[in-house]
Amino acid sequence: MENETGSRNFIEQIIDQDIAEGHCPVVRTRFPPEPNGYLHIGHAKSILLNYGLAQQYGGKFNMRFDDTNPTKEKVEFVESIKEDIKWLGADWEDRLFFASDYFEQMYEAAGKLIRKGKAYVCDLTPEEIREYRGTLTEPGKDSPYRNRSIEENLALFEDMRKGKYKDGEKVLRAKIDMASPNMNMRDPIIYRVAHMTHHNTGDKWCIYPMYDFAHPIEDAIEGITHSICTLEFEDHRPLYDWVVRELEYENPPKQIEFAKLYLTNVVTGKRYIKKLVEEGIVDGWDDPRLVSIAALRRRGFTPESIQRFVELCGVSKSNSSADYAMLEYCIREDLKLKRPRMMAVLDPIKLIIDNYPEGEVEYLDADNNLENEALGKRKIPFCRELYIEREDFMEVPPKKYFRLFPGNEVRLMHAYFVKCESITKDENGNVIEVHCTYDPETKAGSGFTGRKVKGTIHWVPAPFAVPAQVRLYENIVDEELGVYNEDGSLNLNPNSLTILEHCYVEPALAEAKAYDSFQFVRQGFFCGDARDLKPGKLVFNRIVSLKSSYKLPSAN
Ligand code: ATP
Ligand code: MG
Repeated sequence: MENETGSRNFIEQIIDQDIAEGHCPVVRTRFPPEPNGYLHIGHAKSILLNYGLAQQYGGKFNMRFDDTNPTKEKVEFVESIKEDIKWLGADWEDRLFFASDYFEQMYEAAGKLIRKGKAYVCDLTPEEIREYRGTLTEPGKDSPYRNRSIEENLALFEDMRKGKYKDGEKVLRAKIDMASPNMNMRDPIIYRVAHMTHHNTGDKWCIYPMYDFAHPIEDAIEGITHSICTLEFEDHRPLYDWVVRELEYENPPKQIEFAKLYLTNVVTGKRYIKKLVEEGIVDGWDDPRLVSIAALRRRGFTPESIQRFVELCGVSKSNSSADYAMLEYCIREDLKLKRPRMMAVLDPIKLIIDNYPEGEVEYLDADNNLENEALGKRKIPFCRELYIEREDFMEVPPKKYFRLFPGNEVRLMHAYFVKCESITKDENGNVIEVHCTYDPETKAGSGFTGRKVKGTIHWVPAPFAVPAQVRLYENIVDEELGVYNEDGSLNLNPNSLTILEHCYVEPALAEAKAYDSFQFVRQGFFCGDARDLKPGKLVFNRIVSLKSSYKLPSAN
């Protein structure tokens, strides 16, 4: 993944060197999610990075579920993760793996360590293990079980597997160094007893390997050359290296850490997203206010926009946070030329053209996208009664208001000039109809140059317009108050969702489907909602508004 300035990121530099030194004839990477939730934008970075590197070096990309912890894992998550990765465009071909498929090999690997005198069964309680571990400033103490014989350890480990012990009664620990300055090296637990049903292996196992032991084995079994993970695993690398060294793998994988992708003021952590879902604050993992991949897809983001975003973020070794506005910039840029520009009125008020013959309809030509002729043209019916946006009319306009007000003339997009002649109010004094006259000479495309108007407004033809529900979104959390409260709870934004029930869209949108996206002129980009749009019921999510103060940093 070349960045915009063309320089190579630090991971590419490492791989370049490994290839130059002949360490890896074929580059193999993997994405190893734990199936305990849905993927989010941060995972997208890891997926696209790993897949992109495999592509770039003509290598292989594996998909592997890291399902060594049965407590939180579910088949629902396995399916959603696969769908999200496919949608993002990362192709694992026929290489879909489960860490749980390697349980037997892991068990054997543990036996090998025992036979080498590098692992032992320990009977200390979890509390005692913690006490014995020492602190950052004090070395730990050896467990009294550390010097059990190899035979005894083998027998006890086998009994652990057979289910002779209760959860927590015994563990298998690597025998490394209780005085190591790196806490992860102080005889870490590598196997624990857990009488739990696993989503893949059922009740076959009652002992499960710990992540730090299992992960390097998974990588080695699959021939992964570069095991790319995030920075929090940096301190675990010595243990990773210890495991692959002691197990004597021929071409040991190499762990490389990079900084996680964070979005400023946006809830990205799986834990927090899960909480919002479980507490019913959002309507599921794909609620368009979230940044899970399913949510971004439902909101109307495209794989291309996410790829671009990840590229712009770059790959680095130091933590930083990207702006949500940059993600918005990427989707605007992606859709700008690809999608038709249609008219939709979100807050309608009736406009009646008094001098337009009743019952008459004409079909006006409109470009679907003025900047992209390939999208063609459409016909829009035009007639005496239209809807316009309530905010495009003011009875008493402020200065510099160029839209409709009594006596003023504006252009109706793709149609004619209309001049406001009078208004009708209901008994409460609210304007309910704006009466205009139109000038037939001013038809769009007729070459009329007689006079100019300062405002152009959009509209839909009342008898032909299609009712729609439109959903507008803001950040789920309150940025002003700060994302997190002192107690760690989220500061929710009460305005994160606005549902507009009485919108109208032009008839060309009547058949819009889930995930179809459009620009609604002057309003933003919108997408058919995958959950609620049904034949005869249009529901659109606003992906992003049109305006942005965002500027791309440097480069272009
Ligand atoms: P979370 O931090 O949201 O709980 P996780 O790290 O627990 O996520 P995993 O399923 O373990 O989720 O992650 C799979 C892979 O995705 C790991 O290699 C992890 O390092 C990477 N990853 C997770 N979050 C991010 C992020 N924000 N940016 C980049 N990579 C990430
Ligand atoms: Mg994790």
